[in-house]
Amino acid sequence: MSTKDYLEKDYYKTLGVPKTAKSAEIKKAYRELARKYHPDTHKGDAKAGEHFKEITEAYNVLSNEKQRKEYDEARSMFGGFRVPTGGRSSGGYGGAGFDLGDLFGGEGLGDVLGGIFRNRGGTTAGSRARRGADVETETTLSFGDSIDGATVSLRLTGEGPCTACHGTGAKAGTVPKVCADCHGTGQQSRNLGGFGLSEPCKTCKGRGLVAEDPCTTCKGSGRAMSSRTIQARVPAGVADGQRIRIPGKGVKGEHGGRSGDLYVKVHVKPHPVFGRTGDNLTVTVPVTISELALGAEIKVPTHRGPAVTVRIPPGTPNGRVFRVPGRGIRRKDGTLGALLVTVEVTVPKDLSGKARSAMEDLRLATASEDPREDLLRRARQD
Ligand SMILES: [Zn+2]
Ligand SMILES: [Zn+2]
Repeated sequence: MSTKDYLEKDYYKTLGVPKTAKSAEIKKAYRELARKYHPDTHKGDAKAGEHFKEITEAYNVLSNEKQRKEYDEARSMFGGFRVPTGGRSSGGYGGAGFDLGDLFGGEGLGDVLGGIFRNRGGTTAGSRARRGADVETETTLSFGDSIDGATVSLRLTGEGPCTACHGTGAKAGTVPKVCADCHGTGQQSRNLGGFGLSEPCKTCKGRGLVAEDPCTTCKGSGRAMSSRTIQARVPAGVADGQRIRIPGKGVKGEHGGRSGDLYVKVHVKPHPVFGRTGDNLTVTVPVTISELALGAEIKVPTHRGPAVTVRIPPGTPNGRVFRVPGRGIRRKDGTLGALLVTVEVTVPKDLSGKARSAMEDLRLATASEDPREDLLRRARQD
């Protein structure tokens, strides 16, 4: 993103969120728009692809606390001000109603803007080093793989240097010329109303090179949509909805710039038996009323391991949770969480003759105990 992008683009409007939006709101808006305009679902639709890029750019800035602050500051500082893009369109300055040269103590506006954004990792336009964009993708893991970690194949679609011309924009076998207008810097400075302004060269569109015989694949732009498959290691213990950062696996940088990062959002398929809370696994185990009343030793399944025996003391209430240490999720420090076992009474639908008469005997034997007596008494309180 260049300074000019900051001043000209309304990222809040792009994402359809208010300036006061919290990061969760921004994320939600981005996710919805990204799904709607994702290039995978709009093959060959250049407009949707362009829109997807705008959405991603807006999100990249607004989701980064530091960049968002810089962006907000730049916009409030130069509110209403427009960097002229051609001709003598200096109306923006008059509209601002004051002399910007004075405001900055005679410093060139380009210098001031350059100072504000100096630490932005070389993302200014031109033939200088340009960091590649970050890429987001998603993957779905089985419950077991999310707990033990797994290597996954990720298919990435994104814009990068055109492979046919290696990003030069020149047809294979030809060599692009250094732009005569900007001498290869990709920048043109103009002097307007007493201060200097640096903007991307119009002749070479900021690339510093001009292809006389343009590459037919990218029509001379040097950029192309491409897809590639990479292998990535998902660490053990990853949770559903978590985002993993894989440094340097995003879009390749230009002119020696760093590559962007890859962010992988992980979805975890639910397990039919086990659940998860934090570092612990959970399981619900059916028990009989007599096992809870009289006590019992019950077999409990563990995830990807042999069953363990859990001792239930006499008089255990329904729904009680037992903790089996060391059968949960492996933490970063190598220790293990627990398996949390919830006991749940099952009521038999059909009782055999003998079980039925035993149950009727139990009813008679406990007839004097009304389990609702306490409840009814307490319900009378105001
Ligand atoms: Zn140029
Ligand atoms: Zn090309």
